[in-house]
Amino acid sequence: MAILVLGGAGYIGSHTVYELIEAGRDVVVVDNLLTGFREAVHPKARFYQADIRKREEMDRIFETEHIDGVIHFAAFSQVGESMTNPLKYYDNNMGGTTVLLQSMVAHGVDKIVFSSTAATYGEPERIPILESDATRPTNCYGETKLAMEQMMKWTGVAHAMRYVALRYFNACGAHASGKIGEAHDPETHLIPLILQVPNGRRDHISVFGNDYPTKDGTCVRDYIHVSDLAQAHILALDYLMNGGESDVFNLGNGVGFTVNEVIDVARKVTGHPIPAEVCPRRAGDPAQLVASSEKAKKVLGWKPKYDDLETIVASAWAWHRSHPNGFAD
Ligand code: UDP
Repeated sequence: MAILVLGGAGYIGSHTVYELIEAGRDVVVVDNLLTGFREAVHPKARFYQADIRKREEMDRIFETEHIDGVIHFAAFSQVGESMTNPLKYYDNNMGGTTVLLQSMVAHGVDKIVFSSTAATYGEPERIPILESDATRPTNCYGETKLAMEQMMKWTGVAHAMRYVALRYFNACGAHASGKIGEAHDPETHLIPLILQVPNGRRDHISVFGNDYPTKDGTCVRDYIHVSDLAQAHILALDYLMNGGESDVFNLGNGVGFTVNEVIDVARKVTGHPIPAEVCPRRAGDPAQLVASSEKAKKVLGWKPKYDDLETIVASAWAWHRSHPNGFAD
């Protein structure tokens, strides 16, 4: 029996495939390669270039492979783009998930681990954020991810499918092998953008606002290593395979760092002065997002290995220094 990873050529998906293969699992990867990279797919995974919005393509995979469980990363994930082109997000994220769930029901595949996000909470009511806190997304991306969680919930009620939604905070870092890492086009995330400065690809980093109610005025985020996120998907799948009920879990380190603190850590790791310039706030950015991951630790037995920001940034730097142009290198 194999695990089907949808979006397994993307950043978090490709790292999860590496962990699954290292754990001895049989893995099938599906990706339409719109934002993923063929080079990011582990050579031992069976790869299908297919689109989850196409029912016949999904049916063909479920008929060809013996799929025991699904891990679903296949979605668009840029907050800014979701605000200027919301229908692109409804089409791929919700439309794609609708077709996927229809095909899973038709083929009797009843377990799914889903890549969700802290963006489902919107402006948090308290820090750290608990899974039971209110979900009021402030952008269309977070809204589609929350709707995808709800689609799994109601499909589960009707068809006895079980799901785990993993709400990640700020994913960063790269696989220890140096073979895969973060590569987005365009890049919008803080740590890879900071590291473009010592890589000679930009001359400074922009700091989006320094008038937030935080200790130095810049936004606070909870940075979590991508390999720790990947491990959580395997634990969530095993939880479902052992009969666990559908549930939602936060994944973060539970420690917040300001944008200025992240830049300082990157200066230390790279030895480069990394000039920073304060710019206006970015629309839709909450002041603070920090997870309580106690539930994932207790129920799934999750233990993040990388709890130190310097080690996380060093792991990102090892990848970006050797791949300044991402997978094109
Ligand atoms: N950020 C910034 N400059 C940049 C990119 C991001 O100051 O060039 C800030 C952003 O406003 C947020 C934090 O860095 O407070 C993390 O942003 P990112 O896009 O990496 O992740 P998000 O928190 O949006 O998921």
